[in-house]
Amino acid sequence: MMRWSKALLNTLREAPQDAEIISHQLMIRAGLLRKLGGGLYTYMPLGMRALHKLEAIVREEMERAGAQETLFPILQPAELWKQTGRWETMGPGMFRVKDRKDAWYVLAPTAEEAFTALAKSEIASYRQLPCIIYQMQDKFRDEIRPRFGLIRGKEFIMKDAYSFDKSEEAADASYKAMYDAYVRIFKRAGLNAKPVEADTGDIGGNFSHEFMVFAASGEDGILDCEACGYAANQERAERQTVLLPYTTEAGAATEVATPNQHACEDVAAYLKAPVDRVVKSMVMLANGEPVMVLVPGNRELNEIKLRRFLNGAKIEVADDATVEKVAGPVGSIGPVGLSLPIYADKSLEGAADVIVGANKEGFHLDHVSLARDAKILAYEDLTLVTEGDLCPKCGKPLAIRRGTEVGQCFKLGTKYSKAMGATYLDENGVAQVLTMGCYGIGVSRTLQAIVEQSNDANGIIWPAAVAPYQVGLLLLDPDNPEVVAKAKALAAELEARGIDVFMDDRAERPGVKFKDADLIGFPIRVVAGTKGFEKGGFEIRRRTEKDSDIIAPEAAADAIVARLAE
Ligand code: ATP
Ligand code: MG
Repeated sequence: MMRWSKALLNTLREAPQDAEIISHQLMIRAGLLRKLGGGLYTYMPLGMRALHKLEAIVREEMERAGAQETLFPILQPAELWKQTGRWETMGPGMFRVKDRKDAWYVLAPTAEEAFTALAKSEIASYRQLPCIIYQMQDKFRDEIRPRFGLIRGKEFIMKDAYSFDKSEEAADASYKAMYDAYVRIFKRAGLNAKPVEADTGDIGGNFSHEFMVFAASGEDGILDCEACGYAANQERAERQTVLLPYTTEAGAATEVATPNQHACEDVAAYLKAPVDRVVKSMVMLANGEPVMVLVPGNRELNEIKLRRFLNGAKIEVADDATVEKVAGPVGSIGPVGLSLPIYADKSLEGAADVIVGANKEGFHLDHVSLARDAKILAYEDLTLVTEGDLCPKCGKPLAIRRGTEVGQCFKLGTKYSKAMGATYLDENGVAQVLTMGCYGIGVSRTLQAIVEQSNDANGIIWPAAVAPYQVGLLLLDPDNPEVVAKAKALAAELEARGIDVFMDDRAERPGVKFKDADLIGFPIRVVAGTKGFEKGGFEIRRRTEKDSDIIAPEAAADAIVARLAE
């Protein structure tokens, strides 16, 4: 049992200025976290206990899924990162440091290279497969905007696991084992996290799920289908293509004057045409080479989809000089008569009476038939999916929700093992490249996401599985020896039954103790006071309840155990 009078614990009435979201405010106010610098936080003793409980759940489920724990150095030689090319491609988000001999190191932002190097040296034969290894350790990222406390830190705790298999099929089984473990981890931690289809981003690979916690402060957009359960990150989301209705040719393409009209909405209004009859033409650079992309005037291009379609090419918006060189004056460009590669969104397939820029300032072309008048290389799904678009699985309208990513699973294939030469000998003694997967959970972010999802006007409501202490025992009369004796006896009985107790033995008014217990969010509050004992015993209340039950001292431990077991 911990006593407040001995604990390093200070609650605050006010949240610091920079705490923008409720979970950040509550973590600070409840004395769980303190700031050391921007994006850098210290776990205080109570915060540490909650963190340890969450980590224990993660470890148990990893082991249950067959993963083995390891611990790698945070400081990693640059050479390792050069083998895969990520020393160059990771950019300024990766912290790099030099030792006294001028050798470069990385403060690990993730650890595919280090784990692949280990697999290369330790895995020799198919008999050792599948192999899943993980670690729980600090990661470093020089985030553009560290904020929201533990949600986006410069240093944070990640559980990262890596699977090594002999085939695609076997890798799928490892992926499923990790995916299922994630579902169990978040459920046990009392967190409602939804798996959504995701893009693979910088990590690479070909298939991925993110586990998302819905929250207004979430930095990701998720397209969610209530009808069939389809859910995908906006970066990745697809939609059922609805072709534009302008499919009948209406004569030859005709130049029309559109003085000072550039944006699709303005051109449409000027020509009294629906916005989607105007085609938005954009010149992009794919690995530095200009390409044109067409989407309906009321839609946005999803650059991540374009990148995926162009085999991972680096995508940038072309500079004005390039646009003028390959097409025409910025704001008046269109696909007719151009020779650069042109890709159009799927919904434009068959569009035969649309409006495009004339590649001439102040003019557009009306009655354009894309198939007849332009050279479109491919019709692909290239638009950003938004609220109300149709679900690609069932055709019902999609809703958009905000979410925070707490974990992600990737099928990596052989991207890293090939680059680093990580092979094993198969049944016939032939060397084969290992097939990989990687799986991350932001453990520190998850801890705060739990608070973001579970609180009320008075403070945190900890799920019992991760609460710093399951029971807050409020000693209202620390000077009454009978009250103290009964409280101590209850605490001892609870601890003997595996329940941790935090006793508020401060010389404070009851009101202060009640407020602090709610703020910290103990799942069960037990009041030990002279008045209560006159009424028959301890006053016991769940954090989520308004009123307490009076329970006789002999029955109190059972009553608490029963409430916690619910
Ligand atoms: P995000 O898109 O939020 O930046 P990410 O996709 O870059 O995250 P991953 O590389 O997938 O992150 O890392 C695995 C997990 O680590 C994430 O699911 C997230 O929970 C956590 N994480 C990533 N960056 C941070 C950070 N700066 N602070 C705290 N947790 C983080
Ligand atoms: Mg991620």
